[in-house]
Amino acid sequence: MERQKVWVPQVEEGFILGHIVDLGTEEVTVQPTDKRFKPITCPFDRVYPAEEDEGKDVDDNCGLMYLNEATLLYNVRLRYKRDQIYTYVANILIAVNPYTEVKGLYSSAAIKQYQGKSLGVLPPHVFAVADKSFRDMKVLKQSQSIIVSGESGAGKTESTKYILRYLCESWGHAAGPIEAKILDANPVLESFGNAKTTRNNNSSRFGKFIEIHFNQQCSVVGGYISHYLLEKSRICSQSKEERNYHIFYQLCAGAPDSLRQQLRLAGPDNFHYLKQGCTQYFLQPSTVRTMNVNRISRDQQTKGPLKDPLLDDAKDFIEMDKALQTLGVSDRERLAIYTIVAAVLHLGNITFEDNPEDSRGGGRMSESSGASLATAAQLMGVEKEDLHQALLSRVMQTAKGGYKGTVILVPLKPTEAVNARDALAKAMYSRLFDYIVTRINQAIPFQSSSYYIGVLDIAGFEYFPVNSFEQFCINYCNEKLQQFFNQRVLRDEQTLYQKEGLNVPHIDYVDNQDCIGEHSGVLCENLIVVIDNLLLSLGLILPTDLIEAKGSGIIDLLNEEAKLPKSSSAHFTAAVHKNHGDHFRLGLPRRSRLKQHRELRDDEGFLVRHFAGAVCYQTALFIEKNNDAFHSSLEALVQESKNPLLKSLFASSDPNVNKGKLTYISVASKFRSQLQELMGKLESTGTSFIRCIKPNTKMVDHLFDGGTILSQLQCAGMASVLELMQQGFPSRAPFHDLYNMYRGFLPKELARLDPRLFCKALFHALGLNDNDFKFGLTKVFFRPGKFAEFDQMMKSD
Ligand code: ATP
Ligand code: MG
Repeated sequence: MERQKVWVPQVEEGFILGHIVDLGTEEVTVQPTDKRFKPITCPFDRVYPAEEDEGKDVDDNCGLMYLNEATLLYNVRLRYKRDQIYTYVANILIAVNPYTEVKGLYSSAAIKQYQGKSLGVLPPHVFAVADKSFRDMKVLKQSQSIIVSGESGAGKTESTKYILRYLCESWGHAAGPIEAKILDANPVLESFGNAKTTRNNNSSRFGKFIEIHFNQQCSVVGGYISHYLLEKSRICSQSKEERNYHIFYQLCAGAPDSLRQQLRLAGPDNFHYLKQGCTQYFLQPSTVRTMNVNRISRDQQTKGPLKDPLLDDAKDFIEMDKALQTLGVSDRERLAIYTIVAAVLHLGNITFEDNPEDSRGGGRMSESSGASLATAAQLMGVEKEDLHQALLSRVMQTAKGGYKGTVILVPLKPTEAVNARDALAKAMYSRLFDYIVTRINQAIPFQSSSYYIGVLDIAGFEYFPVNSFEQFCINYCNEKLQQFFNQRVLRDEQTLYQKEGLNVPHIDYVDNQDCIGEHSGVLCENLIVVIDNLLLSLGLILPTDLIEAKGSGIIDLLNEEAKLPKSSSAHFTAAVHKNHGDHFRLGLPRRSRLKQHRELRDDEGFLVRHFAGAVCYQTALFIEKNNDAFHSSLEALVQESKNPLLKSLFASSDPNVNKGKLTYISVASKFRSQLQELMGKLESTGTSFIRCIKPNTKMVDHLFDGGTILSQLQCAGMASVLELMQQGFPSRAPFHDLYNMYRGFLPKELARLDPRLFCKALFHALGLNDNDFKFGLTKVFFRPGKFAEFDQMMKSD
């Protein structure tokens, strides 16, 4: 007898094929087929049966006999090799970034082809998902959303753009004014909100939810963009080999000479805020060849180190400027926007030093910074003396016996002045970004709409050697999205079974994260308990409570800490441990992990066991990073600005600021309420999921790095979905489809029957096992792999 082939875990490949040579009580030993590998011993539940036919790939993974992460990885691998970057797992689309143009994949002809076709009729595609959303919206009269997720560089933003194009081209008026504006929002958002990172040359440093609105007749009538968490630290500093936001370089490279002179712009190498990640860009020729969005201009390649050879900043500036014009942003407004961008750059060039003449330890501005101060002040529309004073001193109010005393100026040390300068730059830029999004939304007006399709493009789960506040926020968001995903996939499956009258017992999900440590958390248990129990239990154990609960959650503890007269990260960290020490999702930081950086003390952070793995957060900068306010002299300065745009950016600030009190505007609280609003929207819509996968970290085409792809599939919750499917009836076909497919193979008498009876008679005649399928109201449901067997039987008869 031929031995059953199995998949066994292997670090680089994810899984490799082999056969079992030894069975222990808890472990198995597998001899890999590839003899270069030694026998591998691992726990029972990590070894999976392999499909018989090694060369067969399927559009929908649910068509396989064995549904597990190993067969999914292999199916995706086979398809990727054949340039089929898309695969379904039931209704979920897996999209592997090809890092090269796949010919014809997104042509207008392809758009036409997918229109009106049910999912599964044509090969898997983002267009098919977009079309399903559109059809569901029309038929169910309900708004829809498409959640695009994946790690940095996985292709979320590109997928989002294809979806928007599909919807606008198919259901709008070709190149109509609203559609043009919706599509033109992208180059603008990318200029101001994307940057080159080591993971992605065009990385979105903010999240967005783009809604396309439709009227009763399902024509496009408008759009709306919500944005989340622009990464502010990048404005003042960048990691090695990374850049600041594209707009800065674009403005330096692409603005007309007169504008460059007016804004006193020179090459990016002259600006402190632009050159901290500066190393000579080194990219392999193959990378250059495969990048499809950014072309290289010859002169860019030869000039200084800040010219990324993959980005044509000058050309991108022109494109972005044109997009702003399409959006109806006037010459005057665009000049105002660019003026603020330039002001940020000049501000960054102001430096400070110790002042030996100041007995109170205050610093002074370096002599060489005079010109930068003057230019920054002029562009900001403030007096240079005022800017100078606001950067170097802070207004304080003395309190005497419970009464408010006199206002005094406290000099700032050079490091404090640098912080003040950076806080000002960050506030100016991030508020400018808010303004640009608002401006885009104003430019896409619509009277009223009946439904919308929203596309969510937001960073996936992040885990770096050192994780701070930004990772904390994004992982919190992913935790919520994952919770939503589990509920939706499970619920949709159950609802379908119910609607079709299958009489299948409810399926329970049990979150057993605590038992399995770092492995993906949600597993499917036996078909036993009702869904209500499940939601209840999920509610009790999900870590979102740990983070967002009012009063005792980590976010509120952080806010409380900031209000203390002597707040400190150590005190905050201790409060987290004190409040949640017995919560199984919270742990002490793992020192071993951070050894290569430095020893981490318990009071420097905490560990959260997320669905996708445990992450250790270093809390040192949590309090500062969570604060959106800056000290009152700066606030007062910009509020007095003669630059109308700058003034308006700060107009809605807290009225307390001018009273000499440092206010605290919590970034995390704002994000929490934005997320609540977003989740509310998602819950009220029908949802589709696209899981983007990055095939390798080298950003090259045709390289399938099994190990990292497997961990992305796990983070995307795919293993649990497959387990769920394995226990249910994952393949399904409407009676009339089966009837149309097979009536030609059968005697005429059978073909006269109605489709349902036809299928019954057919299955009976073939002697199919009753346990392998179930008849619903409109469809036949098959156990895993059984549809393929049946199809094979029919075709070979
Ligand atoms: P981040 O979280 O950093 O914003 P992302 O998931 O949005 O990452 P994208 O910017 O969409 O990633 O993709 C990264 C790059 O991969 C693109 O600039 C493009 O070169 C390439 N790419 C992505 N999707 C495709 C595709 N479908 N076809 C060809 N190339 C693609
Ligand atoms: Mg992106």
